[in-house]
Amino acid sequence: MITLIKGADVYAPTPLGINDILIAHDKIVEISPSISLQGGAVTVVDGKGCIAMPGLVDSLVHITGGGGEGGFHTRTPEMQLTEATLAGVTTVVGALGTDATTRTLPDLIAKARALYEEGISAYCYTGSYQLPARTITGSITDDILLIDTMIGIGEVAIADHRGSQPTARELAKVAADARVGGMLSGKGGIVSIHTGDASDQLTLLHEVINTTNIPASQFYPTHINRNQSLLEAGQRWCEAGGFIDMTTSTNEQFIEEGEIPAAQAIAWCLAQGIDASQLTMSSDGNASLPVFDAEGQLIGLEVGKVRSLFDAWQTLAKTEGVFLHDAIAVVTSSPASVLKLKNKGKLAAGCDADIVLCDAQSLDIRDVIARGKHMVSDNGVLIKGTFEA
Ligand code: ZN
Repeated sequence: MITLIKGADVYAPTPLGINDILIAHDKIVEISPSISLQGGAVTVVDGKGCIAMPGLVDSLVHITGGGGEGGFHTRTPEMQLTEATLAGVTTVVGALGTDATTRTLPDLIAKARALYEEGISAYCYTGSYQLPARTITGSITDDILLIDTMIGIGEVAIADHRGSQPTARELAKVAADARVGGMLSGKGGIVSIHTGDASDQLTLLHEVINTTNIPASQFYPTHINRNQSLLEAGQRWCEAGGFIDMTTSTNEQFIEEGEIPAAQAIAWCLAQGIDASQLTMSSDGNASLPVFDAEGQLIGLEVGKVRSLFDAWQTLAKTEGVFLHDAIAVVTSSPASVLKLKNKGKLAAGCDADIVLCDAQSLDIRDVIARGKHMVSDNGVLIKGTFEA
């Protein structure tokens, strides 16, 4: 299985200029200005007029479905393969959410493996919103160490009425357990943090790093674009050496109530001088997005879309006045490096062949390759999920 992409403008995400990309099986073998191969067993993809960028890494998707906060009928459906591939997403990290009773870790692992078998890369977090954490083995360390798909824990909820109201001591213990599991298995052992809208914001995380030996980089707080005040708290967290993640799934009501669109939040952070390597976006795909009326009654439910990550990236790249390579980094190399996914988020020899070709003018997706397999061509699906019509 040899594929040669000819003449694309390569963003690794560092801009490399016009290059050919040679792929053998699931890996990138070579990137250079002119690669020619003899023989008939080569699939050639014309990359002219396109940028080539790494496949998007979506660090938070409720791959088995989420929600349920309005009763059983509000549990959202699971993610299907092409919801990711048609949006250029070639790596997802699955998580439970509020519900770790009817949603289970074995189901999450099975779904991650299913997505892998269908062609993309999929990992997951042990635990859920609540502490003490639900685990498979009885131990956070053992889950991360012994279960190949598990790369950390989360989303652990802070500053949220749906969380367990953890103390700094409890959270530090969770981070320490995850850290050791990560170190012993060569994984990130990251603690994904669901940040709610309560006024304590990221105070608990500062307390942990100020009173223990856990570094800020062990935590990965998300939903930081909830409002301007939280975004400013996120800036302070970056100054303390941390990373922050913006959520791209949204609706009109959230924006009216003060949520900052993810692209705008990233552009604001870059303008404050925060490095792109500390900034990421994720979709929160398949989460429920409740709509309430003026009296606070639930009147509708929408479902978060993995697609929103690509749409927010496109907005960031096209209308927010940031460097294209920075816009690409926040959805590729930055999340891959936060999560310590060594072969992800970059275009380089030896890396996984996860590649998105976008029209250089419109930045619309043309082709998507995941682990060397051509999943999307000319914006049409080549490989569907097992049960997709
Ligand atoms: Zn969350």
